[in-house]
Amino acid sequence: MLILGIETSCDETGVALFDDGLGLLAHVLFSQIDMHADYGGVVPELASRDHVRKLLPLCDQVLASAGKTRADIDGIAYTAGPGLVGALMVGGSVAHALGFALGIPVLGVHHMEGHLLAPMLEDNPPEFPFVALLVSGGHTQLVKVDGIGEYQMLGESVDDAAGEAFDKTAKMLGLDYPGGPRVAALAEKGREGQYRFPRPMTDRPGLDFSFSGLKTFTLNTVNAARDKGALDDQVRADIALAFETAVVDTLTIKCRRALEQTGCKRLVIAGGVSANKRLRAGLEKMAAKTRGSVFYARPEFCTDNGAMIAYAGTQRLKAGQRDGERIVSVPRWPMNTLPPVHEPRAN
Ligand code: ATP
Ligand code: MG
Ligand code: FE
Repeated sequence: MLILGIETSCDETGVALFDDGLGLLAHVLFSQIDMHADYGGVVPELASRDHVRKLLPLCDQVLASAGKTRADIDGIAYTAGPGLVGALMVGGSVAHALGFALGIPVLGVHHMEGHLLAPMLEDNPPEFPFVALLVSGGHTQLVKVDGIGEYQMLGESVDDAAGEAFDKTAKMLGLDYPGGPRVAALAEKGREGQYRFPRPMTDRPGLDFSFSGLKTFTLNTVNAARDKGALDDQVRADIALAFETAVVDTLTIKCRRALEQTGCKRLVIAGGVSANKRLRAGLEKMAAKTRGSVFYARPEFCTDNGAMIAYAGTQRLKAGQRDGERIVSVPRWPMNTLPPVHEPRAN
């Protein structure tokens, strides 16, 4: 079964081909980051228009690189939400038009389920059940995962997402969007112990997060240094390191709690922030103490991509799930409302 996956929820056009027997055959990605850079963030209308320009050529490109034609495709999966409604509509329209023309099933997939399942594309994929930490530009969530579509929300951010906090900190430090990788690179040059940032909501029970206070703390620290005329490259690096360490510590404390609470040994991290090296190292150190293990995708599959949508769509299309005639786009869509996919279990 060969599935074409299409991702257009935000500012990345991603397309991939996944074969349920052979695995991932090919994937391509076009990032619109340069186009939005002049505006300091994603401009929704520009994003939609660029998806229109890029999507069909990328579909042809991914087919060519796998040595396939449209006639070989058995089904199409596209991101139906959450995301920017105009951007989502582009992926949904192309998926449904192609599916109608080819007479094959089409399915709208949940973007965060895509992120969550991306580590399944790697060697040594995690077995169910596990705890997943979803850390992206728009989400920070802890989820107990018993199977595909069997999601129990354990906790989430009450305000900003972790990725958003990275992006805003980057802006305060004069770095470009997307800020996560740039803050991480700057932090490499930071000196430890120069600043101590808070670990929000770790001093009380529960698995929710809050990152907006940390953002304010960064702003105050940057402003204080600037007022003293001390905001040079070294101090900016020190601040980046203190911020990153605080985020990593906070996420690690909550992950440890979630593993204890659920009795799980396996932790999956997914979404753009899961590419962060300090986070991976911190979680691995924590998990090693309890003989647990941490799973994540290669960096290019942590951020938005078509491969994760092709993979998630394949699992659901295989189980017979498909759209009706209508294009589905759901800008806001809680993941725990998804239907389960019961894998036939071998005895
Ligand atoms: P969502 O998936 O919630 O809809 P999104 O699709 O915009 O949001 P992703 O593409 O998963 O988010 O991830 C992008 C985010 O990941 C950005 O906030 C970016 O700064 C952050 N990010 C990427 N790489 C790193 C890194 N190495 N360290 C920290 N943050 C990172
Ligand atoms: Mg993105
Ligand atoms: Fe995403």
